[in-house]
Amino acid sequence: MFPALTNNVNLNKEYDVVVVGAGPAGLASAKSCAENNLKTLIVEEHPAIGTPVQCGEALARFVFEDLGMRPEGNEIKKIKIFSPNKKKMEIIFPEPSLFLVIERKRFEKNLAVKIVNMGVKIITRAKAVDVIKENGFVKGVVLERLEEKIRIKSKIVIDASGPNAIIARKSGLKIYSETERFDSCAQFQMSNIKTEKSTAEMYFGSFAPGGYVWIFPKDKGFANIGIGINGGEGNKALDYLRNFIEKDERLKNGSIIEMNAGIVPVGGTISKMVSNGLIVAGDAARMVNPLTGGGMRFAFKAGEFAGRVASEAVKDNDFSEKKLSEYEKLWNKEFGLAFRVSAVAKDILLGSSEKEIDSLVGDIGVITAPSAGGKDVMLKGIKNVLPVLIKRPKILFKFRKILKSNM
Ligand SMILES: Cc1cc2nc3c(=O)[nH]c(=O)nc-3n(C[C@H](O)[C@H](O)[C@H](O)COP(=O)(O)OP(=O)(O)OC[C@H]3O[C@@H](n4cnc5c(N)ncnc54)[C@H](O)[C@@H]3O)c2cc1C
Repeated sequence: MFPALTNNVNLNKEYDVVVVGAGPAGLASAKSCAENNLKTLIVEEHPAIGTPVQCGEALARFVFEDLGMRPEGNEIKKIKIFSPNKKKMEIIFPEPSLFLVIERKRFEKNLAVKIVNMGVKIITRAKAVDVIKENGFVKGVVLERLEEKIRIKSKIVIDASGPNAIIARKSGLKIYSETERFDSCAQFQMSNIKTEKSTAEMYFGSFAPGGYVWIFPKDKGFANIGIGINGGEGNKALDYLRNFIEKDERLKNGSIIEMNAGIVPVGGTISKMVSNGLIVAGDAARMVNPLTGGGMRFAFKAGEFAGRVASEAVKDNDFSEKKLSEYEKLWNKEFGLAFRVSAVAKDILLGSSEKEIDSLVGDIGVITAPSAGGKDVMLKGIKNVLPVLIKRPKILFKFRKILKSNM
């Protein structure tokens, strides 16, 4: 057993902010807090930052730039999307590509090193198990660390603990957890397969009920191959994935060098993301695109907003829900519309027959994604397929309400 090293972290002082979880949302929150000179501590239950990875590792290039880091990853030039009966559409990414398949372990560790150098303290193998509440305000967290219980006080807690949202739930915020509102995912990292270096692939059909199979290449013949299915299907993602791989000549003789599984909340962002002394960020606040299941980009941005709002609160010595609700405004302004559009698009996909999806995919054909600077990818994507949608009044009807409210 390792000794209980605390790495010089003072657990007795009061921090401005305690961040629970050192994933994308937690690291970005702490970075943003540090930039605003807040005394910040991250508590992480695992012994290492960046592991275990539960991710296809697809990330937009601009996230690196937003974080002040050099983009690193395998550049994707094209995504091929296949309908149930193998009709194909393609999204072409102009260079430098917006779409990278990264090495998440390395990325998060590099970010952790960066923020520690900015003054953030991190304590690993420290599991937050409860919230400290005083007079209706969140005032810190209770940790379990090597069989010891530790109370850490802070002015604000940022819950970035991922899907389990431990602190938000313990504080009484309404956080959904119905399995149907989650995707259940499984992934193999495979080598010695016959896949291309710069082409990602996505497959929709009954072999992935309520979701899709992805092939996100890390190099030629080396890729993350994963599946997301609706959580209501139970714990069968791994079986569905094996099934898909066994039927694909290019994949079935490859070697699995890593596997992972996890859940993703795809039922939409929670409406109340703050309470007195508490901000909830990333998967904990269900900030995952309902259509794609991608969440890293949103978790990083939420972290930036959380730090910014926490800093204003500390400056004004006001940690009330009202003060912190600025965070919800920032989030909704940046992503509210894109998430509503994605939720409708997912609804359309799930409510369409295989024949309808075949026809839609076939008609879209080839489209070009925005260049690396394009951040409103989702909305631009919808605009690109408008000519095809116009021929489908049933689909347009579903978008009607959103389009009207944003005219
Ligand atoms: C199989 C799979 C594939 C995915 N692929 C992609 C993809 O390709 N691209 C993409 O953008 N998104 C993808 N996602 C979603 C993405 O991984 C998440 O949206 C993203 O990680 C959310 O970041 P987060 O910081 O909110 O949560 P997390 O990454 O879950 O981080 C939470 C952190 O909190 C820690 N923690 C949890 N509980 C406690 C506690 N009680 N005390 C202390 N620490 C705690 C955890 O150990 C973890 O380090 C995928 C998800 C899965 C499951």
